[in-house]
Amino acid sequence: MLKVENINVFYDQIHALRDVSLQVEPGQIVSMVGANGAGKSTLMMTLAGVLKARSGSIFYNGKPLPTEPHLVLAEGICLVPERRRLYANLTVKENLLMGAYLRKDKKGIQEDMEKMLDLFPIMRQRINQYAGTLSGGEQQMVAIARGLMSRPKILLLDEPSLGLAPLIIEQVFKTILDVKAQGTTIFLAEQNAFKSLEISDYAYVLETGRVILSGPGKELLDNPMVQQAYLGVR
Ligand code: ATP
Repeated sequence: MLKVENINVFYDQIHALRDVSLQVEPGQIVSMVGANGAGKSTLMMTLAGVLKARSGSIFYNGKPLPTEPHLVLAEGICLVPERRRLYANLTVKENLLMGAYLRKDKKGIQEDMEKMLDLFPIMRQRINQYAGTLSGGEQQMVAIARGLMSRPKILLLDEPSLGLAPLIIEQVFKTILDVKAQGTTIFLAEQNAFKSLEISDYAYVLETGRVILSGPGKELLDNPMVQQAYLGVR
């Protein structure tokens, strides 16, 4: 579905992604785990068309993926960026509607809004509250729901667990599984290697811009090198 081949991304002289290749199959959760500064956000922003690769290719369903953010979104690939970036001075409802701005089907939008409120019941009580006044976990839920309002084929989630308490992280990862169950493919970038490997069909480990390891999530969980470096097992 999504195929990345040997991409290299730079910030001026800084070589942030080095020959990164990966594949995401429909219906899967695929994750990219790695420490701070490994290049996860750079990868997500490159997929979303915000950053350009200096070399390499990205294919979506066999065709080159556009390199402009609105065209990537129009293809059905939606990024939920790190630190959520909600419109703080808009209500939850308005934020959700912003997620559907490319859509014209009023009825479908209304139906999806209801679906989101079923998926995230807490949002029903908060629907008219300013997004900036929500807790971190609630904001993350709204950010995911806003992404889903575009009816993406692939949801790109950049560090959804960032800055959240352990119990809320549990909820976020459970929600990610619910989103998968509803048929959306997910590509996840996470520092929380344990949680993401647990739910991933396939995963990649990124270290200083390079993919150093890949395999089914459960297999990587059992890998001694991953356990030592990312799961705190000695
Ligand atoms: P984090 O979880 O801390 O966000 P990350 O894995 O997402 O980490 P990136 O943000 O993609 O990592 O950063 C990859 C590398 O690129 C880092 O060395 C970082 O310092 C560098 N970098 C990121 N953004 C810029 C920028 N705008 N200008 C210069 N260097 C940057």
